Amino acid sequence: MTNIEPVVHDPMLEVDDLHVGFESFDGFSDVIDGVNLSVGKGEVVTVAGETGCGKSVTMKAILQLLSEPPARVSGTIEFDDMSLREMSDAEFDQIKGERMSIIFQDPMSSLNPTFTVGEQLTDTAQFGGYGDAGILEYTRRKYFGSERAEARERAIEMLEEVQMPDPENVMDSYPTQLSGGMRQRVLIAQALMNEPDLLIADEIGTALDVTIHDQILDLLQNLIDSHDLSVLMITHNLGIARQVSDRVYVMYGGRMVETAPTEELFNYPKHPYTQGLIASIPRLTGGAMAEGIDGSVPEYLDPPDGCRFHPRCPYAHEACVKDRPQMRSDSAEAGVECVLYDDNRAAPFDAPTLADTRNRMGTLEDESYSSEEVYND
Ligand code: SF4
Repeated sequence: MTNIEPVVHDPMLEVDDLHVGFESFDGFSDVIDGVNLSVGKGEVVTVAGETGCGKSVTMKAILQLLSEPPARVSGTIEFDDMSLREMSDAEFDQIKGERMSIIFQDPMSSLNPTFTVGEQLTDTAQFGGYGDAGILEYTRRKYFGSERAEARERAIEMLEEVQMPDPENVMDSYPTQLSGGMRQRVLIAQALMNEPDLLIADEIGTALDVTIHDQILDLLQNLIDSHDLSVLMITHNLGIARQVSDRVYVMYGGRMVETAPTEELFNYPKHPYTQGLIASIPRLTGGAMAEGIDGSVPEYLDPPDGCRFHPRCPYAHEACVKDRPQMRSDSAEAGVECVLYDDNRAAPFDAPTLADTRNRMGTLEDESYSSEEVYND
């Protein structure tokens, strides 16, 4: 394997060496530690990992939604060859909602309960990309401009496109009068209203029941194809990652530990964490209940040295606690950050298969993998 970052040609979004930390009374939390990530034009990319591994913080940093301070952000974020971090607020306002948009995590709380759905969608249709319009101009155009009627038409058209039943009535409803599935459709309509090039979807459908969740995913898949979108999707659900994405990043402890095209990642996972996640999926055919990965995500106030996964890894050894492993690639689209794939370092284990990890996870508790025993020998 070569010692390079995987590359995506013709990227729509490119994040390089992103670091995000937070100041607090308890100290500095070092959350995102050198993340590289790219989404090609027309590509659907998923970032998958446990809750608390840094997915949403990465997304908020990309969208410049973190207040600095208390956040400290560094690194480069390029969207269609424009550096987002070097833009003024006014310049970024013209991109937000117009060229890149987001579907937030929770459909129950992401809409404003004091305005009707129609007001919120019509505002998006009329003012997306006009964040710097003055308040007087905004008010004039909102209530008296002829474009208001056109924007309302566009909002209804989008509700029809997301297969909303009775769109005219929904326009006059308040969000609290709609079911979770309907609110999720409103959020998708809002995000796609101004035909963005890049859509960021954070844990879509998480709060919905299984059947509605499936319908929403099918809808989203159709919209991605028909609008030719580049998509960055964030999820803790590997089923969603497999169903919708072309390529998957696996994130752990604020780092991207593996990336590969979707089928390659699920059929031949390399990183012990990826293997652990896949081995934890309950299987319908025979066998014992999956035990899951022992332990929990790291404390960011004092994260583990070296590989952040080492306290939970069944293959951890001395080298894992010294230095951060480097990303190794064996193709332009795949890479893994683990010393077991380092050609130059003698590791006491061969690169594990998914079956090896399944077996080890089953006995992890009995072996009580103690760092002292291993690292001091
Ligand atoms: Fe496990 Fe070491 Fe690889 Fe980290 S670097 S995943 S601790 S083997």
